[in-house]
Amino acid sequence: MQKHLEVAIKAVQTASEICRKIQAQLVAEDAMTKKDRSPVTVADFASQAVICRMLNEAFPQTPIVAEEDAQSLRNEENRDILEKIQQFLPGWSIDQILERIDLGNGEPADEFWTLDPIDGTKGFLRKDQYAVALALIRNGEPVLGALGCPNLAFSEHDQNGTLMFSVKGEGTFTSSLGKNGRQKVTVSSNAPHEIVRFLESVEAAHSDHSLQAELMRHFGGRAKSVRFDSQVKYAVLARGDAEVYLRLPNPQKPDYREKIWDHAAGVIIVREAGGIVTDMFGKELKFCHGKKLTANRGIVVTNGKLHEQIITLLNR
Ligand code: AMP
Ligand code: MG
Repeated sequence: MQKHLEVAIKAVQTASEICRKIQAQLVAEDAMTKKDRSPVTVADFASQAVICRMLNEAFPQTPIVAEEDAQSLRNEENRDILEKIQQFLPGWSIDQILERIDLGNGEPADEFWTLDPIDGTKGFLRKDQYAVALALIRNGEPVLGALGCPNLAFSEHDQNGTLMFSVKGEGTFTSSLGKNGRQKVTVSSNAPHEIVRFLESVEAAHSDHSLQAELMRHFGGRAKSVRFDSQVKYAVLARGDAEVYLRLPNPQKPDYREKIWDHAAGVIIVREAGGIVTDMFGKELKFCHGKKLTANRGIVVTNGKLHEQIITLLNR
């Protein structure tokens, strides 16, 4: 999978760079409203277009299942958005932009890419955390992941963003976004009697913060809540900066099911760093039911040492 990894890394780096440029210039009008009312930005489309183009050139037979499509951009009222996208993709015609975004309209198959061009759009608009998340799924399981986290400092001395990538069986590696080199990462070794840092969404509607708080109370003063948008949470856990990530379903949205592109890259990155990812019942996540994780409810991610205890607490 060497070629897959090289192409995935290059694509995520290129898109992350574009997102960073767009975020620096972002003004509120650049967000528009999709049917589900989540903000979609110039950057989502530009990121999807460049990544789909690179994947399609290298692997024309492999479907790409991505979050966005160009339908809304074909409306005359969104012409200004399209022209803004074009400013960040010099040399691309309008038709090329639309076609390349729509390369992401593939259907899940035995092997396919899944892409969230900007995971955490709300964080992106707040100038907070977001991620460019790409994974390769084989037989219902993520086998390769590349996660660009442009606003996650690589280290205390390197405020550049962070890239993480994994191939199944080979571990998880990180580098400063846009730079060469790689370092292996592993999850924290903290046991339940030590400090437990719990990652949660920033957005109140995306999980059940009160149930999460109740669970944390079992750990007394050792529990600490850390909030980040997007799959940045998986990256933070993979590199040992937190022990648990809780995403318990919002009771007000009983029909919501997690999307594959919101988790696939993060899942392999945490697993290959030594962590465990399941749903809230301790069941394996199944990426073989189309675009959603319909066989699962909630997500629990840990460094491994706390998994059993947390699943037990949740299912008493
Ligand atoms: P996060 O920043 O971790 O909350 O993740 C952002 C993602 O949450 C977005 O990409 C959405 O697809 C997803 N999302 C939107 N609504 C919900 C919901 N009710 N429950 C869980 N996730 C959601
Ligand atoms: Mg997302």
